[in-house]
Amino acid sequence: MELSNEEIRRYSRHLILPEVGLAGQKRIKATSVLCIGAGGLGSPIAMYLAAAGVGRLGLVDFDVVDFSNLQRQIIHGTEDVGRHKGESARDTLRSINPGVDVTLHSVRLSSENALDIIKHYDIVVDGTDNFPTRYLTNDACVLLKKPNIYGSIFRFEGQASVFAPHLGGPCYRCLYPEPPPPGMVPSCAEGGVLGVLPGIVGCIQATEILKLALGKGVSLIGRLVLFNALDMNFKELKLRRDPQCPLCGENPTIKELIDYEQFCGIPAEPVNPTANPDEVTVQEMKKALDDAKQGIKVIDVREPDEYEIAHVKGVPLFPLSTLPQKFTELDPNMQYYIHCKSGVRSLKALKFLREQGFKYLKSVKGGISAWADEIDHNVPKY
Ligand SMILES: [Zn+2]
Repeated sequence: MELSNEEIRRYSRHLILPEVGLAGQKRIKATSVLCIGAGGLGSPIAMYLAAAGVGRLGLVDFDVVDFSNLQRQIIHGTEDVGRHKGESARDTLRSINPGVDVTLHSVRLSSENALDIIKHYDIVVDGTDNFPTRYLTNDACVLLKKPNIYGSIFRFEGQASVFAPHLGGPCYRCLYPEPPPPGMVPSCAEGGVLGVLPGIVGCIQATEILKLALGKGVSLIGRLVLFNALDMNFKELKLRRDPQCPLCGENPTIKELIDYEQFCGIPAEPVNPTANPDEVTVQEMKKALDDAKQGIKVIDVREPDEYEIAHVKGVPLFPLSTLPQKFTELDPNMQYYIHCKSGVRSLKALKFLREQGFKYLKSVKGGISAWADEIDHNVPKY
């Protein structure tokens, strides 16, 4: 493999680094990387890897660009809203470096397709935002002996490591043998995330990829970096391989991919999505608000900051976080419809109030987001 004169100009700041040089740049060019997710982490990872001259980049994403992505997913622009993330990302990468071969996998990574996709790449980078895909990525990488460059983010905190049991060190399951119960760890959509945070964590991941490609430096294998943006500090934990790990331990029991939705306790989609007897629709919530004679009160269990962004007129706020103190202001014999942003926290509030003896409770499916979509377009979505 040779570098053209144009490539020599493009990569000159690499070429003059003794740790890279012509040989190192050729190694980077010969490397292929699969990026799972073209979102917050995937944006800086793919952009920097393309700029650095990684020869082949694969992108797995089936989603479309949403307005709420733009605050951190810098590979997409305002005019890309509504487009496929993969296609939007590919355009950006081509403009950064047309010499990079970009392959799109516009599918949801699954137990059926993961091995077939991953086997064509040297290195895999985890830019996912959910536990089933994270365990799936980990397992597929261990089975195929591919380094898995891990990163995750939440609010102001992030973490990163390199999982590669075939090169030493643990896998993701050694660190987290069990997924958290569903709903325990809020997603970025529920909990929020500082826009620059995926930039920092994604750049750590991209750095580890380049070091692996070059065979230089001390990798994050066997180490977990913890970053806190509010305190602006980095901490490091030593990670050990768990000899009992069901995947990479001494007597592995997982020898093929499993059902990751089930493993993470996520129930299969109900046949009839309105089947939950504890739920009502936003149309029913509107009826309750319009017709006081029904005697149904509507309450909002989001947090005050969210209420300030958007609320439904006349609906009082009882934040879930203070409900254990505030519920005494509510009447256990009254009928309540409870809403939140999307319908997850309202079900938690319903469960809590039911335990306190409240009898007539319903959770509003889809929350204020569904209200904004179906009832009142003047209510902003966030
Ligand atoms: Zn393991």
